[in-house]
Amino acid sequence: MARQPTVPQAPAPPPEPVTTTGGPPPREAGGILTIDLSALYANYRMIAGRVLPGECAAVVKGDAYGCGIDQVTETLARAGCSTFFTANLDEARRVRAKTREAVIYVLNGFSSASSQSFIEIAARPVISSSVELAEWDNFVATSHWSGGGAALHVDTGMNRLGLTVEEAAAVAGRIMLANHGVALLMSHLACADQPNHPLNDRQIRQFRELRSLFRGIPSSLANSSGVFLDSSTYCDMVRPGIALYGGNPSPGRSNPMKPVVELQGRILQVRHVEKGATVGYGATWTAKRDSRIAVIAAGYADGILRQAPTTDGNAQAPREVIVAGKRCRMTGRISMDLMAVDVTDVPVSAVRRDMMATLIGEGLSLDEVAAQAGTISYEVLTSLGQRYHRIWKV
Ligand SMILES: *Cc1c(COP(=O)(O)O)cnc(C)c1O
Repeated sequence: MARQPTVPQAPAPPPEPVTTTGGPPPREAGGILTIDLSALYANYRMIAGRVLPGECAAVVKGDAYGCGIDQVTETLARAGCSTFFTANLDEARRVRAKTREAVIYVLNGFSSASSQSFIEIAARPVISSSVELAEWDNFVATSHWSGGGAALHVDTGMNRLGLTVEEAAAVAGRIMLANHGVALLMSHLACADQPNHPLNDRQIRQFRELRSLFRGIPSSLANSSGVFLDSSTYCDMVRPGIALYGGNPSPGRSNPMKPVVELQGRILQVRHVEKGATVGYGATWTAKRDSRIAVIAAGYADGILRQAPTTDGNAQAPREVIVAGKRCRMTGRISMDLMAVDVTDVPVSAVRRDMMATLIGEGLSLDEVAAQAGTISYEVLTSLGQRYHRIWKV
């Protein structure tokens, strides 16, 4: 083989963002999931600007809330994000592969058994109990750890993870004395999406007292809703997740975030159902008139949650999709791969086999879809499944 000339290479310019795709090809997929990376970028910039001079980190657990951790990390790093929170080491590894410099905190914390992975990834644990803190101390003393400090997570009322306030107060002196390597003091709000909940004030007050014990160590309290609750939650760093992905951080008020996720499902056929006939498993929906039903190729295996009722015979808000620009109601039970939608009120010529219906988007917001399904935007996003054709639009 001819020897290649060895010209010294200029440093690579930062890669231009490009639209990427994943999953089955669009002609084969039952649905198309579009992630708007420009909207994600804008959402990050908006919150980052709001909390200045504090830092805006990003929570990318759960495959970045179902939006694709690789593409999301790349986009947020480009938007200036330099601290990421994941749930576990596997996610941290994915983030590290996309950003060499960023600080990565692992929310599920430290265990001696996984210490080697923390070294390899240069990820930092979020320490959430006294036992864990002791294990971490031992690890730092016996290893040549150079991955930076850990975060100390203190519970101020959530009662999920975190040292108690008393435990934290007891170790504060020791942590402040030695160069102990605690780089972040954090806590988590339980009710930030309910501005009038009395627990908010209690948690904010407790955290303020804690901070005074750990003076000089940066602190972090707010998730997405916290950011839109009160500026007293900003501290040195905020940790939004859902708001970056377009979820409404201030329920009951208009959503300040740009929508990031759009979902379409393919109509496999349109069928006639006579008045009095039923649709789907369990025959839970009965046609009150001669009806046309569109069968769409997305079901509970694709994150169209089955639990909430789809019948319109009760007071419950109907669950809707948009067909040819018109809101239509789901009918009968959601199946694994399919759902049925009443398109009787859409002109016959406007609904055809192979057309796409909009399941999220066109004004049918993520939060509305979640509410109709009896859940929250977080669960809708993280349930979406792997069968859609995915487009990460720049
Ligand atoms: C998930 C999580 C967040 C992000 O919460 P959002 O409500 O999605 O903004 C922040 N902090 C901790 C500890 C979390 O577990």
